[in-house]
Amino acid sequence: MVKLPEQRRWTRTTAISFASTLAIAASILFAWRYWHAQPAVVAVQRDISDVRVWWRCPDDHRFTALGATVARICPTCDQPAAVALDFLCREHGRVELLLRFQRTPDGRAAPAEYSADGSQWAPMGDAPSCPICSEPLSRVPRSLADQIADQDALR
Ligand SMILES: [Zn+2]
Ligand SMILES: [Zn+2]
Repeated sequence: MVKLPEQRRWTRTTAISFASTLAIAASILFAWRYWHAQPAVVAVQRDISDVRVWWRCPDDHRFTALGATVARICPTCDQPAAVALDFLCREHGRVELLLRFQRTPDGRAAPAEYSADGSQWAPMGDAPSCPICSEPLSRVPRSLADQIADQDALR
């Protein structure tokens, strides 16, 4: 009977020390994950020519290939194709645009012109406009496999 409170205290102490051990382990794990996540967040600046993207030709054939600042030739119909990327209109949702890239003086590839259908091209400017309502569009990142995931490539 006399021993019971002491035993309880011991159990509580054990529980507390177990909990604090867990907390320390969790914070170490968190710190480790945070630290290891850093290189992925600060991604290496990717060039369009390092990334596989969708290309679309005037006859609407699609294929994936590494990005380029020159037109790639459609393997189905031999016409020049352009990089096709998704953008978002607040009013009209997903809009796919064709892009032509050019090298900037510092050697990076940047989108220079865009087109909704490949017939008329407009300078990229700050943001392309929606072909339906002319409102500025924003980028929609798709999966890394088929889209330029890195915003750096588009800046
Ligand atoms: Zn084609
Ligand atoms: Zn729109």
